Amino acid sequence: MPRSVPPIAARSAAGRTGASLAAAHSRPACCQASAAAAADAVFCAECGSLLLRCSAYEECGGLVDASGFCPSCFNLELYLDSGAARRAKVGAAMTLPLIVANAGAHGRALFITEFWVRQGAGERKQQELPWERLDAGQSAPWTLQTQPLQQTGRQGLEVILVAASRSRWREEIFAVAANLEIGVEDDGKVVVNQTIHVAGGETAGAGHTVYAPIRIEGEDRGRGDQDSATTAPSPLALTRADGFERARGLRGDPQVGRVDRTVRLAWKGFSSDEAGPPGPILTPDGLLALGRSRIKSRGGVNDARLVVRDAGGALNAALSEEISRRHFDLFVQNGALCVRAAGQSGLRVGDQGLRQGEVASLSDGERIVVLPKHPQALAIDVRFETHHGVVEQVTLTRQPDVQRATLGTPAAGGKS
Ligand SMILES: [Zn+2]
Ligand SMILES: [Zn+2]
Repeated sequence: MPRSVPPIAARSAAGRTGASLAAAHSRPACCQASAAAAADAVFCAECGSLLLRCSAYEECGGLVDASGFCPSCFNLELYLDSGAARRAKVGAAMTLPLIVANAGAHGRALFITEFWVRQGAGERKQQELPWERLDAGQSAPWTLQTQPLQQTGRQGLEVILVAASRSRWREEIFAVAANLEIGVEDDGKVVVNQTIHVAGGETAGAGHTVYAPIRIEGEDRGRGDQDSATTAPSPLALTRADGFERARGLRGDPQVGRVDRTVRLAWKGFSSDEAGPPGPILTPDGLLALGRSRIKSRGGVNDARLVVRDAGGALNAALSEEISRRHFDLFVQNGALCVRAAGQSGLRVGDQGLRQGEVASLSDGERIVVLPKHPQALAIDVRFETHHGVVEQVTLTRQPDVQRATLGTPAAGGKS
């Protein structure tokens, strides 16, 4: 269990400078208002931006960027505690007391799953963390033990936190980093510097950024009684560490390509009353539903309809009955396109069986077998179109191809 520390008086210090992670990634106010005004709004009424809701939107009210980062859920703050060592010797290790805070005001917990430290040009080393769960509004301490300081002068110190936000069966994982510079001056005084990333003014998301170095200094040579700068924890700027996420394979498989929330899905082999037009997943909950029920534009609940047809395009009612009304969901999570079996009979994805409720990530060339007991009845082939490591389009091709088989009988879907 984390030992909670008392509320941090200086909590909003980073927020005031615009340097907090949440402030840097928040969507413009017009978009927030548009999303709140209509639960199914897809575009901002004012600026026209795409509204992508967090998978926990009902709780956090957060809009995410294309990567899925929710500034409301991932409202992490990192502080150098006021008791930080102020003097050190070359050749000796140093301890830096840190405080990790979940500054979210929505009641959602965050889970700190990894903690990494790199000193100077050394390797990143994973640290043990005695606690994992941070409830909203909670802070927990962690002491960073440096390697022996090799020389006077400055050296870099990188701290990376990997945090997970969980909402029922969905989970997003992001890495954030603080970059410090520690130095021991000739008189043994420790200086900690950081480069703080300040989001630009409130100008409708135009967000120019400036880098403002701030300097954290210790008590003054033995006085330290009225040095107000050391009585409150010093906020450290956190930035997204997407390079680290890539290197660790935390968000999408680098071999597969990263899938963003804005990825375009295209349908092949479906008739026009069985799947919608191509485009990103724009449902409020970010889930694309597929199953036996009709599609939403035809009064049903699905985004694509799955029924079994014979070679001539005629409905096979008996086999179609084995497909659940909502059989599976597609969604983007952690930089990957994922499938979740929603129906009782499960699915097969490649050679992996998925039971009801189980999730698998998809890659190029994969086949989703809709009824594992009748593998020939209906399958969806998944093709990725990837440019520079980013999947731009996913084509979902129905097998067998009904559009071709039913050519000339376009109204075939209206029967059941
Ligand atoms: Zn807007
Ligand atoms: Zn959220």
